[in-house]
Amino acid sequence: MFSAIFPVFCLGCKKFNEFICRECAQAARINLEQRREGFSFHASFRYEGLIAEALHRAKQQNQFGYLKALAGLLRKSLPLTGNLCLVPPSTNKAFRKRGFNPSFELAKLAGFNVSREIIRVRQTDYQQGLDSYSRQNNIESAFKVKKRGSFFLFDDVVTTGATIREMRRAVEDAGGEVAGIFALCSTSPKGAN
Ligand SMILES: [Zn+2]
Repeated sequence: MFSAIFPVFCLGCKKFNEFICRECAQAARINLEQRREGFSFHASFRYEGLIAEALHRAKQQNQFGYLKALAGLLRKSLPLTGNLCLVPPSTNKAFRKRGFNPSFELAKLAGFNVSREIIRVRQTDYQQGLDSYSRQNNIESAFKVKKRGSFFLFDDVVTTGATIREMRRAVEDAGGEVAGIFALCSTSPKGAN
């Protein structure tokens, strides 16, 4: 519907009428198990180039065509069946201002069930721009699990892993377990982009 208003060109190769064309998406994919302190996770892309640009346009400029395109790529790249329920970090002030929760929308648009079982009990600063130590402090005790269970965690971008670690702490404190962790993108652990 976006393309009906503005002409769209692939962010990578400028191909007409594509947000991210198949070839450029394929070239950007990593599909790797990544490690951060205390956990490993599956990341579909590195947070750079056209993927970072698409996410930026979706999140900062509300260009939902890019969100949809990324969701389509996510669906194809995750080694998961459709009925699985993913749990993104719940809404923060930064997201609320923006009007939507990117991780939640990505998982939903990708066709997964999405759960809001992990809720935010403490407002935190926006993680972007904070160094590794500040990120960990900022996010500490931010989440609580509504009820004990086994969860698949999902975040759009994993940088230092602080958000995921905190979500997992909340799950485990409630006596539950984390069955898997997935991200659309991962950055270098040191880079706060
Ligand atoms: Zn392209």
